[in-house]
Amino acid sequence: MKRHFGASGGGTVRAVDGVSITIGRGEVVGLVGESGSGKSTVGRCAVRLDEPTAGTVHINGTDVSHLSRRALRPLRKDFHLVFQDPSSSLDPRMTVGQIIAEPVRLHRYARGTAVRERVEQLLGQVGLRPEHADRHPHELSGGQRQRISIARALSCDPDLVVADEPTSALDVSVQASVLNLLADLQRDRGFGCLFITHDLAAVEYLADRIAVMYLGQIVEQAPTAELFASPKHPYTQALLSAAPVPDPVVQRSRERIVLHGDLPSPLDPPTRRAAATPAGGATGSVFDGCRFHTRCPLVTDRCRTEVPALREIPGGRQVSCHLVTDDGTAPDAAA
Ligand code: SF4
Ligand code: MG
Repeated sequence: MKRHFGASGGGTVRAVDGVSITIGRGEVVGLVGESGSGKSTVGRCAVRLDEPTAGTVHINGTDVSHLSRRALRPLRKDFHLVFQDPSSSLDPRMTVGQIIAEPVRLHRYARGTAVRERVEQLLGQVGLRPEHADRHPHELSGGQRQRISIARALSCDPDLVVADEPTSALDVSVQASVLNLLADLQRDRGFGCLFITHDLAAVEYLADRIAVMYLGQIVEQAPTAELFASPKHPYTQALLSAAPVPDPVVQRSRERIVLHGDLPSPLDPPTRRAAATPAGGATGSVFDGCRFHTRCPLVTDRCRTEVPALREIPGGRQVSCHLVTDDGTAPDAAA
């Protein structure tokens, strides 16, 4: 899937450039990477709040990539996005009950008095009381507001929930309880979940599988335990080396790898050069080399000229780095 934007100053922002993710029913896929790597854009395309420029988004086998708003409407009950900041995603003029009831009514999930019952049931499931239905969002705490967003997202039993940094706008003291709630509900309901975060402890706890994004592309994908035990891509190694070790008994004696420089702009990824203009054709541009080469501690000449393909390695993993061998042997970026 690709999502490119026309930049105001000209040029193309390649926010998402060839990302492919499959989320199975009941599966939690973590999407990690620095701010600006394109994670949120992937999430927005996955629930069709944004339209991919190329490629497709399938939900339950239906290609929803380019459906009109109208055609999407009946399908919207199947997928939902939980935003980072509940304060901006909940309509302040509506009561909590109205907020949760809206999709229930819209998708005819329940009618008449059953709507209120459904609202109260959902409030209970997210740890709130029936009385909360008559309050307005501003009367609630940040954690309670995020519980409301979750209740709304789950109101019509979706198949896919995209949670984009669902706790990062919350007080540290309530982050764990909201994450636990999401984890419990996911296990009970069995919906697929794309969990977007830069909180590595949270993703290790919640995700079955993790995809690591760098500058609009996935550079590594692996089952969670394997990724943490042996990250293969130098960028993943750097990312995990910066994470606090939550359990001191688990000795992850990993040296911190400090990356120099900022994330390059997706408007002008490293080693962009004009492509040869095909006779009579339009001028295009291509990218050479590894996108991580400007910051990679292990960079070689080859990395500057040849794009490393995302390829399968043993253990149900994928990685894009020239230095990782086909049997999965990887160099240590900290060495
Ligand atoms: Fe680093 Fe080269 Fe591997 Fe890219 S391909 S991650 S620059 S070693
Ligand atoms: Mg984001």
